[in-house]
Amino acid sequence: MNEALQRALERYEPVIGMEVHAQLDTRTKLLCGCPVRFGAPPNTLVCPVCLGLPGSLPVPSRAAVEHVLRIALALGCEIPERSWFDRKNYNYPDQPKNYQISQDERPLGRGGALVCMRSGQVVTIDNVHLEEDAGKLLHEGVGPGQSLVDLNRAGTPLAEIVTEPVLHTLEAVDDFMDTLRLLLLHLGASRCRMQEGNLRFEASISLRPRGQTALGTRVEIKNLNSHKAVLGALSHEIVRQAAQLDRGEPIAQQTRLWDEANGRTAPMRSKEQAHDYRYFPEPDIPPLSIPASWRERLAASLPERPRERFERLQRSGLGAYEAEILVSDPALADYHDALARTTGEPRRAALWLINDVLKLLNARKRPFADWNVPPEALAELIALEREGVVSGLVARNDVLPAMWETGERPRTIVEARGLAQRSDDASLAPIVAEVLAAHPDTVAQYRAGKTKVLGFLIGQCMRRSAGRGNPKRFSELLRDALASETDQGSRPAT
Ligand SMILES: [Zn+2]
Repeated sequence: MNEALQRALERYEPVIGMEVHAQLDTRTKLLCGCPVRFGAPPNTLVCPVCLGLPGSLPVPSRAAVEHVLRIALALGCEIPERSWFDRKNYNYPDQPKNYQISQDERPLGRGGALVCMRSGQVVTIDNVHLEEDAGKLLHEGVGPGQSLVDLNRAGTPLAEIVTEPVLHTLEAVDDFMDTLRLLLLHLGASRCRMQEGNLRFEASISLRPRGQTALGTRVEIKNLNSHKAVLGALSHEIVRQAAQLDRGEPIAQQTRLWDEANGRTAPMRSKEQAHDYRYFPEPDIPPLSIPASWRERLAASLPERPRERFERLQRSGLGAYEAEILVSDPALADYHDALARTTGEPRRAALWLINDVLKLLNARKRPFADWNVPPEALAELIALEREGVVSGLVARNDVLPAMWETGERPRTIVEARGLAQRSDDASLAPIVAEVLAAHPDTVAQYRAGKTKVLGFLIGQCMRRSAGRGNPKRFSELLRDALASETDQGSRPAT
């Protein structure tokens, strides 16, 4: 944390609220049958409805409504029996209809809360609603004063999740954003690809002197497309507002934009601050009726929430760090659940996944989604190591990569390649003798009382046995041999 921020936070308490726009994972747009696809040539995924041509009629997507209802249910929101869309009127080049179809008076969810994964903090929710996205203006590669518009994104369904202003630290904001992202991933409601703009944030922030309960004047920050942008913009606002309050100047209530390149917020043009959207109920879409049976069916389909999963994993013996890595990828956490069930050892399963499977994939720059070894096969390998059939070294360095490359079961690989661990003295003792003969200096160090060098000698034995010797038996044989030599060495000359 920089010094100016630290000094500002000593005197002032930030009061922060968040608005999150999440692009829903649907095949089609919210109100027409146009496909939702990132990166298509401009203006190729459009039709009269999403272009807002006269006479076209919107039909809402059931999948989009269900996604938002499941988000609202997972947050514990109150779901109304009747909900409807409203028109939010404004004129902007990326919105050809001159209004956006959104929800104002009767959103799909009200109230509720998100329990943050790391801290357990309860972030209360104001509302969750469904709306359509706008198109995109392109300012690059055109002449000065010119812009192009791409309407492929116009009409894409968004869930907007609005919190109460209950966040007071940047760590809490970070925890909230991570947890919400994981909730959306667990629900399958959004792909949450930041680089494709699937998650976009707006923040409101005011400062008050520590110890004071009355709220200060609020500033809204738009245009935040990453966690880094949110935290950078809030840090900048805290320092800016604190300096202004210190000088006795009032804070102007305004909307500001985050300028990532220069690391600062700047006020938006004043005419865009007019917040009179003249909402009224959308006349072309009948109100939505949400019967209890629908609500109950969706509620029954909800997965475990990130905080619950994080806590359950820790109760089963995992550390917070390990639990967080697993929960951060629902597919990885599901795989761990299956592996832990088969092995009966949740922590050992977690360590194998984090230390060995993820490491193997990272080294090949592959995502976990590409991991094709079924949990039962990995459980078999873990059992082979536990039973001493293969050494830990061979299990990790030879068998695991071979399973990934060939798709064969571990037992087959061990047998076919002769990788079984050797524990018999007939094969191990000659290796011990060779290692002792090759390292007279180390042997002397051991004899002089530096017994820590035993680890090095075991390592040399493992190398000479191509990782197949039993390290425990090597250790015993080495100790015996060194002990007898020590006795001999310390025997007084006669
Ligand atoms: Zn369309």
